[in-house]
Amino acid sequence: MVLVRYGEIILKGYNRPVFEDALIKNIRKAIADAGEVKITKAQATIYIEPMENDEQTDTIADKLKKVFGIVSIVIAYRTEKSIDAVCAEIKESFGELLCGVKTFKVEAKRADKKFPLKSPEICAEVGGRMLAAYHNLKVDVKNPDVILHVEMREGYAYVHTGREKGTGGMPSGTNGKAMLLLSGGIDSPVAGYMIGKRGVQLEAIHFFSYPYTSERAKDKVMKLAGIIGNYMGGLKVHVVPFTDIQLEIRDKCPEEHLTLVMRRFMMQIAQRIAEKRGCQALVTGESIGQVASQTMSALAVTDDAVTMPVFRPLIGMDKEEIVEISRKIDTFETSILPYEDCCTVFTPKHPTTKPKVEKIIASQNLLDVEKLINEAVEGTVIEEY
Ligand code: ATP
Ligand code: MG
Repeated sequence: MVLVRYGEIILKGYNRPVFEDALIKNIRKAIADAGEVKITKAQATIYIEPMENDEQTDTIADKLKKVFGIVSIVIAYRTEKSIDAVCAEIKESFGELLCGVKTFKVEAKRADKKFPLKSPEICAEVGGRMLAAYHNLKVDVKNPDVILHVEMREGYAYVHTGREKGTGGMPSGTNGKAMLLLSGGIDSPVAGYMIGKRGVQLEAIHFFSYPYTSERAKDKVMKLAGIIGNYMGGLKVHVVPFTDIQLEIRDKCPEEHLTLVMRRFMMQIAQRIAEKRGCQALVTGESIGQVASQTMSALAVTDDAVTMPVFRPLIGMDKEEIVEISRKIDTFETSILPYEDCCTVFTPKHPTTKPKVEKIIASQNLLDVEKLINEAVEGTVIEEY
């Protein structure tokens, strides 16, 4: 079986059943194609029992490493709750492993307080029988080759050799909903991962400047959405036709204002779609000073375009720190594929780094802002990887 622990939910004393139900729902989604399973919960643990074959457990455990809200995952063997049964199960499931090592110890957990032996007694009893059965083994409590975990729980006993770390965070959907501005770069997928990890359900929006950016550039974005979507039960992408706006900006606005006018449009369109989709915030991958459009005053110009809170989880991070996370969450290799982004196609040679809000607004108002936003919103299509 696969046993799943979920720490933070309990620590915070939140409405526990709501969180557990959300987590179970996300788990079901994540392992939907791993075969038939039975899922139950008890004693702050979710039990996933494969109904088809034992190989299912490895696949399930692997997929669950990418589900927010899971602190640890263990593949355990369930057996009758007696020392005899536990020892028989250990021999059957871990016999081969025990033959190949020199030292071990037993750790016991007595979640069922009615079990007649206390934890140290369980350890002594099981340990003694293993020493008798495997003459190659010695006990080493400090640094053993193998730890045999024996857990006496309600109903059954479980044996395993240790847990694997989950990704942590909170189950997706337990902390509201936000709209992620997703480019094909390194930063925004990481930003989405970080906000998603806090239990915020995400949708994404991508500004697509076809034919200045290619179909393949969009595929890359969709692939990134697929990768971070794994952690949160999928990620829909609103693909916004952005070419007309960019051409208008290029033709009518002062060159040094191009990027910031464009960024204001992005934020405004994102907010419009976010409101329609019931989102409470926008999320971007900006970080102070990384590029001209991310200086303090440039960020103020962007912020001024919308009323919704804008979350920028990378705001204080260095590029190396962001890259480290993107490697960890498997988006890096996709992010560095060499396809162009709409921002890079229309980048001015000398962007302003100390823009005044009024000046950028005046530049934006050279265009029919309302009409352009409406057209972009109307032309938006939802795609999912
Ligand atoms: P990233 O690595 O996320 O592309 P960046 O450092 O390249 O970020 P910019 O290109 O200036 O920075 O973009 C800043 C933020 O604006 C991005 O993190 C992203 O949230 C959003 N953004 C940029 N381009 C797009 C786009 N084409 N579609 C949707 N959002 C975008
Ligand atoms: Mg970018």
